[in-house]
Amino acid sequence: MNSIFDTIVIGSGIAGLTAGLTAKVGDKKVAIISKNKATSSQSTQAQGGINASRDTASTETFINDTIKSSHNICDNKAISFMCEKSYSAITWLNDIGVPFSKLQDGSFATRRLGGSKSSRTYYSSDWTGLKIVQTMFDNCIKADIEFLEFYYLLDLIVINDTIKGAIFLDITTSKVVKIYASNVVFASGGYAGIYANNTTNSVDTTGDGVAVALKNGLKLTNMEFVQFHPTSMVGSHILISESARASGGYLVNSHNKRFVDELKPRDEVSKAIYEQIEKGQNVYLDMRHIGYETINESMPQERELALKFANIKIESELLQIEPSAHYSMGGISVNAQGKTTIKNLYAIGECSDTKIHGANRLGGNSLLECVVFGIVVGKLCATNEQKTEEVKSDKLSYNKSMIDDIFSKNPTTNFYDIKNKLSKILNKYVGIVRDEKGLEVAIRKINQLQKDYDQTTIEDKHRGFNNTIVKFLELGNSLLIANELATSALKRKETVGSHIRSNR
Ligand SMILES: Cc1cc2nc3c(=O)[nH]c(=O)nc-3n(C[C@H](O)[C@H](O)[C@H](O)COP(=O)(O)OP(=O)(O)OC[C@H]3O[C@@H](n4cnc5c(N)ncnc54)[C@H](O)[C@@H]3O)c2cc1C
Repeated sequence: MNSIFDTIVIGSGIAGLTAGLTAKVGDKKVAIISKNKATSSQSTQAQGGINASRDTASTETFINDTIKSSHNICDNKAISFMCEKSYSAITWLNDIGVPFSKLQDGSFATRRLGGSKSSRTYYSSDWTGLKIVQTMFDNCIKADIEFLEFYYLLDLIVINDTIKGAIFLDITTSKVVKIYASNVVFASGGYAGIYANNTTNSVDTTGDGVAVALKNGLKLTNMEFVQFHPTSMVGSHILISESARASGGYLVNSHNKRFVDELKPRDEVSKAIYEQIEKGQNVYLDMRHIGYETINESMPQERELALKFANIKIESELLQIEPSAHYSMGGISVNAQGKTTIKNLYAIGECSDTKIHGANRLGGNSLLECVVFGIVVGKLCATNEQKTEEVKSDKLSYNKSMIDDIFSKNPTTNFYDIKNKLSKILNKYVGIVRDEKGLEVAIRKINQLQKDYDQTTIEDKHRGFNNTIVKFLELGNSLLIANELATSALKRKETVGSHIRSNR
């Protein structure tokens, strides 16, 4: 493997694939690096779709909907830019081959998601994320972009406030390696997965890139804003996409009564469901009036998921749901060009805070952000003519001894116990509703868990494809993120969007 690249992108979700594809011009060497198989990111699970507006009037409404949904905790210019570029993002995706659902006349089909004044979400049945990822992956292969799979980001190489590369654990060999690059792009996803057992995210969505940014002195912003999606299946927490409500699905309580306008923004709908559950009600998604044919045409995946994981036929039965941690609005602070404060180091997609989503993300805006800012950052990388060479840095030896330490120490506690305790603390004290005392307890308990973590290590000392060390490293990052999240939540005294403060 050539370990000097023009651009390395850390993450192979929709943000990373977009940036990689755009950065690959001429003979530029571009690598997309991921801790899993390149095609198995969180992005593949996106169902509902991607937002866009076509003309000036509808773009104005789109901008206003996004600002309103963020509760004004946003950069209006960044939002305007994203919305203005939205339709060209759809045509770009369409041109590279994404099979969007179309109407009989060949025009794009759209649906209306919560918090939106119009029907502006473009989709590919309810497989939107998967179809985009697979199409982009094929295009990247054709463009000769290198994919480095099973490389776990450990650290950055920074000299004089300029990025020079990054340090990874090669998961297949447990060796620590350095990769140099003139541009480094964080596209490493969000952190809602740290709410283990109460999240729609995959278990490895642990905010690794955000934690590495923090360890390297970068600023994190809006960390307290975690979106709880209204409709996850009770038990499995698998998401039932907003397309269910967009297609006319109702939310009813145990008395079969509707209690909220289902197409309000997610923060309001989740709060209403939370209040019902607090009153002892069960809450159900009612799709019975929609009919098998419509369900099967626009939500085949959701029908299948409900059948497989809850044994419920949504066309004829009620499906019990509850809110679950779904999306992290906060992250690595960047400007509207995806730039961090380290030269040639960027952050895009869910790991970044571009100040688009603020206190509550609008459904369909995450994929759009990934594509629009992925293109912006990819272009900046493509035009950077500086060449990086090998540099002296003590980061390699530091990370090697950190990994050696993990293999040589003896465990004092089973680290999975720490992981379970962390998710219980987050769900109890830093969930939908938070209060001052609870947040103080959470921070104290997280600090104690951090001490336990620092003492312990893994039991499985096998060097090679050892997934236990990955889980262990992810837990280290989760603890850092949890502390940031709870600390930011304590500082934010008011209720705003997804952050609901109670005076208990
Ligand atoms: C079930 C579900 C449905 C959704 N539906 C929609 C929708 O319809 N519309 C919408 O707009 N949004 C939706 N979202 C949100 C959206 O899917 C995500 O916000 C978006 O896909 C994130 O993309 P990303 O490229 O930033 O990161 P991800 O897709 O999360 O990719 C992260 C990448 O980083 C890599 N990585 C992470 N840590 C490391 C590390 N330490 N070392 C190396 N690599 C690392 C991973 O391997 C992965 O390749 C949904 C989310 C979920 C969970």
